[in-house]
Amino acid sequence: MRLLVTGGAGFIGSNLLHLLADQPEPQAIVNLDALTYSGNEKNLERVAQDPRYQFARIDLKDSKQVLEVVHSFQIDHVMHLAAESHVDRSINSPKPFLQTNVMGTFHLLEACRTVWGSDVIGKRFLHVSTDEVYGSLGDTGTFTEESRYLPNSPYAASKAASDLVVRSYGKTFGLPIVTTHCSNNYGPYQFPEKLIPLIILKAMQSQPLPVYGTGKNVRDWIHVEDHSRALWRVLLEGKLGETYNIGGNQESTNIDLVRRICRLLDEFHPESVPDSNRSEGHEQLIHFVKDRPGHDFRYAIANNKISDTLGWQPQHNLATGLKQTVRWYLDHREWWTDILNTRYDLKRLGIESNP
Ligand code: NAD
Repeated sequence: MRLLVTGGAGFIGSNLLHLLADQPEPQAIVNLDALTYSGNEKNLERVAQDPRYQFARIDLKDSKQVLEVVHSFQIDHVMHLAAESHVDRSINSPKPFLQTNVMGTFHLLEACRTVWGSDVIGKRFLHVSTDEVYGSLGDTGTFTEESRYLPNSPYAASKAASDLVVRSYGKTFGLPIVTTHCSNNYGPYQFPEKLIPLIILKAMQSQPLPVYGTGKNVRDWIHVEDHSRALWRVLLEGKLGETYNIGGNQESTNIDLVRRICRLLDEFHPESVPDSNRSEGHEQLIHFVKDRPGHDFRYAIANNKISDTLGWQPQHNLATGLKQTVRWYLDHREWWTDILNTRYDLKRLGIESNP
């Protein structure tokens, strides 16, 4: 297996590369990443020691270079994760989402089609997508692989568009594609703009903890290691042309999630509980902010297909996974301090770089 991972310097990609480095199957592992604001080579220090690993700093928007990588490394398996991934950014500035998520995916598909031609036996193109393409659920129900596409944010719409282009390359050109839709990931190396690390880092500095609307929006949370294991399983055993939904079976309202983080920090980091009211713990820092436009109310995933056909099940639950994640951010202060010092608009995030 000569494997190309795109977006390997990002949150999920770097966790996936850690898992791949433990697998015997790949003879070559090439990480194509443009190192945008969310990409970070420091996520990959352990993987970079692996002689099978190579890094290609390339932007998916550059079709020639994308073709060159697929051709020169004789790639036969692709795990495509590179994307603009943050919903709030897609509301402020949708264009890069369409450029990377749609056109970038198109360039990668074209590169594979050109290099592979009709010789696709033993080859695979795994497209990593999100449950957000399905839009929002009410109080009950779950997304299945048959759910309708009803994306509500420019991010979700760009992922939905890329999914459909991938599908068309399977149907029209016989490209050996398979697609996954996963719920909200959490765990080590998540960029500090996303809800869980944002709340951890702000709470550690006794700063107000912003929660959208009333905090009643519901998300299904999956530990990134469970997602990575699922992607590997689908790459190896998923049926070509099919889609697989991946969820953690761990639904939580945003406000409950934030309260859980507060309680963990009360235990692990009591020094950041405000002195004025120590008995209320970090929860007193929670404050509600104007809701995000087009904010989906609830996501939930039915895992039946991947668990029944590929035998995959999530191994983490939110209680233990969140505890491990809070500890990881406490123990890796250098990792996030470096990000805050060097590559992030500190004002927007509102976190001090040197607490
Ligand atoms: P991330 O933002 O942490 O990482 C994205 C990576 O892609 C970064 O390393 C970045 O440098 C790279 N990248 C961005 N634009 C690029 C371009 N034009 N060319 C090359 N590289 C580029 O995102 P993530 O959370 O790790 O998400 C990875 C994938 O998983 C995305 O496709 C996302 O839609 C999907 N996904 C994420 C979640 C989640 O909860 N985070 C859930 C379901 C699906």
